Amino acid sequence: MLEHCAQARFVWNLACEQHAHWRPGRAAAPGYNEQARQLTEARAEFAWLRAGSVTVQQQALRDFAQAMSSFFRGIHRRPSWRKAGRDEGFRQVGVKSEHVQRLNRRYGRVWVLKVGWVRFRWSRAEGVKSYRVTCDRAGRWHVAFAAIPDPIPAPGNGQTVGLDRGIAVSAALSTGELLVVAGFSQGERRRLRRLQRRLARCARGSNRRARVKAAIARVKARVTERRKDWVEKISTDLARRFDLIRVEDLDIRGMTRSAKGTVERPGRNVGQKAGLNRGILANGWGLLVARLQHKAAGRVRKVRAAYTSQQCSACGHIAPENRQSQAVFRCVACGFACHADVNAARNIAAGRAVTARGALQPLGGAVNREPHLATSAP
Ligand SMILES: [Zn+2]
Repeated sequence: MLEHCAQARFVWNLACEQHAHWRPGRAAAPGYNEQARQLTEARAEFAWLRAGSVTVQQQALRDFAQAMSSFFRGIHRRPSWRKAGRDEGFRQVGVKSEHVQRLNRRYGRVWVLKVGWVRFRWSRAEGVKSYRVTCDRAGRWHVAFAAIPDPIPAPGNGQTVGLDRGIAVSAALSTGELLVVAGFSQGERRRLRRLQRRLARCARGSNRRARVKAAIARVKARVTERRKDWVEKISTDLARRFDLIRVEDLDIRGMTRSAKGTVERPGRNVGQKAGLNRGILANGWGLLVARLQHKAAGRVRKVRAAYTSQQCSACGHIAPENRQSQAVFRCVACGFACHADVNAARNIAAGRAVTARGALQPLGGAVNREPHLATSAP
């Protein structure tokens, strides 16, 4: 399976290479058909590629073509190079139903080309058409079957919830609930620090270094899994309890990427934002919204995030002074006081979108309404 991974990565990176040198005006970078023809030539030439599965290698090219098309449609980042030890995986489509079998309650087995039957711990798989095998940094193998679960039916109670995602509190609900995802425990943090010190003392390329790296990856994987588990539970819970779920429309990619800036135009508050990035990633915002959209299909609305933290959810007054601290919100106009994140969640639930000029707009981009209140937007 490591060979499959290495060959899929090799083919993917070659495709990346061909597209990386393309600039507007030059001859078009080769598409899938041309690349598949080149793959046939490469297989004739290199015994290493020939020994592997042509299906796996072609699939890597198809995945790349799909990734490029997603990139051009603006729904995904540009596909980038895969790195050994980090992006290990390959995909198999057109899986025959007899090639995925359930052995008992706990285990199933899947037929992998050129490898044979591979047993796996069964969690969920129905009507499987394709799967992806990956090896994570902690050296554990996973098999993921592509099957989008049925969305959870709406409860039909007409209730709307607003969800404010944050750092100190992972998610605040307009109902007043504050949800915190467990990050590293004290013990895990200590162990991680100790391992990182040990790693610094290891000689490059040594076996000891590889062992320490794997141990670090295992600690980190535990936290990642905890976060994913939390996201699954929260998203299911929200999809079951509320008819409509409103979340902030934050461009997470912009927030996580632009902090450092460039040499000519260095970013502002770099250290602060880097800390924020860690928090964002630790809380898994993007994943939470993505899972909500799967589970509560068509019932998730994104609301512009501007001023949700400065606006009073009781009277609508917007002022930076309203936000007294990270946690405390107290309206300077009407005196309404509340947890700052819950106040923001209530604004999001109300679907209040505020334009840059500070005028309140009804949800759904309808015709301008009379400004709700005179506001002093910064
Ligand atoms: Zn107020």
